[in-house]
Order: sequence, then structure tokens, then C-alpha cells
Amino acid sequence: MTQQLPASKTDSTKQHTEHLLKSYLKTLRMPTMHRESSTVARQIGQQHGSYELYLQQLAELEVAQRKAGAIARRLKLARFPVTKEISDFDFAAVPKLNKKRLIDLAQCDFVPLRSNIIFNGPPGTGKTHLAVALGREACRRGYQVRFFTASGLANLYREAREERQVLKLEKQIQKQDLIIVDELGYIPLDRHGAEHLFGFFSQCYEQVSLILTTNLPFADWPQIFADDQRMTGALLDRLTHHVHIIGIEGQSFRLKTSQQEKKGGPPAQEQDQ
Ligand code: ADP
Ligand code: MG
Repeated sequence: MTQQLPASKTDSTKQHTEHLLKSYLKTLRMPTMHRESSTVARQIGQQHGSYELYLQQLAELEVAQRKAGAIARRLKLARFPVTKEISDFDFAAVPKLNKKRLIDLAQCDFVPLRSNIIFNGPPGTGKTHLAVALGREACRRGYQVRFFTASGLANLYREAREERQVLKLEKQIQKQDLIIVDELGYIPLDRHGAEHLFGFFSQCYEQVSLILTTNLPFADWPQIFADDQRMTGALLDRLTHHVHIIGIEGQSFRLKTSQQEKKGGPPAQEQDQ
């Protein structure tokens, strides 16, 4: 017959085991398992669950927490200027935009293929919204993403050149899976800026996926790149080798919504139809 330990002895053995377990989990750097070990033990005990179930549930919590932490870190590092999602986008307001195509692109298969996306359209039609939304999806799927405006990127190169840090910057660029360059064409670049961006696009070719937004048709792109037809031609050649071009037509969403608000009328998309 097995001898029963006195209650106080059982309690102190249990406490000692718990204490040891927590210290091992700390050494193994399992913060969630460390935090949740007692709570999950209580739950599993109440359900008369197995030791395996206890360990599985505890490990599952650790894995889920790590995944969430990694996504939050990638979203932060991407430096998106706004938080926009595909689910917030009102496709009915832009009937000519192919919703299915956008939903397909949100699967992010274009990223490992090193393909590019170009959103082209007038101001206020949702180009930045969609670029950010796709970028956030890519972060959730484990890709490293970085958002720049075209002028911000040109400035970054200028500063790097002045500080002789261009190689370092190029290494950082190379580490990304997806780079968003917003507002190409809003501000014409000077000669240096144009050359830097040309260098950037050459470096990204078949190495890093790009999402660009622009208000200018390709024919006007030399305006962006210091009126250099040859350089712009070479750049477009690379950029459009593997590309999804998405033209967005229509009136500014901002303008439409503010007009609707003033009139107190029905939502913009209903009036469009
Ligand atoms: P663009 O980059 O084309 O100038 P934005 O993406 O900045 O335009 O859009 C302007 C504002 O209008 C943003 O707040 C954006 O979220 C919103 N917006 C634009 N189009 C839509 C849409 N179809 N559905 C929902 N919000 C939209
Ligand atoms: Mg924009």
C-alpha cells in the first residue's frame, strides 16, 4: 500500500514543483508558459485532463503569443503612416476596380514572386489606403515590409550619401521583402534624387517586391526623373517586367464624402449607381 503524504507536505511539494517549473521556463525563455503555467494546470486539473494536454495547451499559448508579438513588431517596423485595411475599403464606391483581383493580391503571393504592384489614379481615390492594407497583410504573413514616400526615400538616400552610408542603407533595403513607395510623381525629383531612386529601383529588381502609388501615367514619368527619357525608360522596363498595374478612376473619396456630409445625402456609393 502506498503511503499518503500529509496534506501540508503535499502542498509544499506542489509549491516546490511549481517553483522549479517556473524557474526552468524562465531559463528557457518561455514567458507565456511561465505566466500561465499555474492557471492552465488548474483548468486541466478541473477537467481531469492528461499531462500531455497540459503541456500542449501551455505550448500553444506560447506559440500564439510569439506569433502575435512578431506580427506587432513587423507592423511597427514597417512605419505605415495610417492604419488601413482591405476590409475598410468600400469597393462599391469604385465600381471599375476589380475587387476579386485586390482580394487575390491580399493573399500576398506576389511577394515571394518578387512581383510589383502599381496603383495609378488621381488624388483621394484610395491608392495609399490599398497600398498600406496590402502591406499590413504582408506583415501578418511573415514578410518584412517598409513604407516610404518617394520624396522621403530620396531624402534618405541624400542623407546616406552625405554621411557615406549608402552601402548600409542598401543593405537595409535588401533585407526587406516588400517596399511601398507612395506618391511617386507628386514632387519632381532633382538630378541626385532621380539617380538615387533609379539606383533603388535597379537594386529591388527581382530582389524585393514593390508597391508604388502614382498619379502620373507612365508617359509622364520622365517628369519625375529629372526629364531623363533614357533613365526613365530603363527604370520602367525593370519595374514593369513582373507587374500588376491597377488603375483607379473616379472622384476623390475625401471630396465625395465631404460633399455628401454637407448635403446630408445618402452615402457616396449609393449616389454613384
Ligand atoms: P490617395 O492615396 O489615392 O490620394 P487615400 O488612400 O489617401 O487616397 O484616400 C483618401 C482617404 O479616403 C483615406 O482616408 C482613405 O482611407 C479613404 N478612401 C479612399 N477611397 C476609399 C474607399 N473606396 N473606401 C473607403 N475609404 C476610402
Ligand atoms: Mg496617397
